[in-house]
Amino acid sequence: FRCCSSNGSGEKERTLGIIKPDGVSGNYTDRIRKVILESGFHINKEMIIQLDEDNAADFYAEHSSKSFFTSLIKYMTSGPVLVMILEKEDAVAHWRHLIGPTDAGKAKITHPQSIRAMCGVDLEKNCVHGSDSHQSAQREIAFFFKETPPDEAVRKHDEL
Ligand code: GDP
Ligand code: MG
Repeated sequence: FRCCSSNGSGEKERTLGIIKPDGVSGNYTDRIRKVILESGFHINKEMIIQLDEDNAADFYAEHSSKSFFTSLIKYMTSGPVLVMILEKEDAVAHWRHLIGPTDAGKAKITHPQSIRAMCGVDLEKNCVHGSDSHQSAQREIAFFFKETPPDEAVRKHDEL
């Protein structure tokens, strides 16, 4: 597998993957999980959750000024999502490579083997999420799976 650079240390990295509402309702969960495991990821934790508008707006805060924000929040709250911590060496880059480009319509042409090509529809309904950096992954994992003691978690969340 030759997509991504590695520091060769063999150390595991964690990233956050989400199967979005269209992926869950379209019954792609098993197929996506199969790709994940066959690609050498360990699924460290997973949960199904229904996001409310506040959750989704917090999660996608970086996009709050974009024209598509309202539509994105509506999409992400339209049904349950499956949230997963994915672990392997270079997990962030490998998972982004596996899911393919944001625009699932284009992915079908340029990256036909990608997960978004398999189950996504267009620029918005692209069926999966992946953290875009190691730093984003840490924030997003903490967002869903608070591993710090409750007080600390609340404080960190307020600081974001
Ligand atoms: P990602 O990191 O590849 O998921 O893409 P972004 O962080 O840029 O955008 C977050 C999510 O917003 C995407 O996965 C899409 O679901 C949605 N999105 C991104 N760009 C657009 C856009 O131009 N229009 C619409 N309607 N949705 C978008
Ligand atoms: Mg992004």
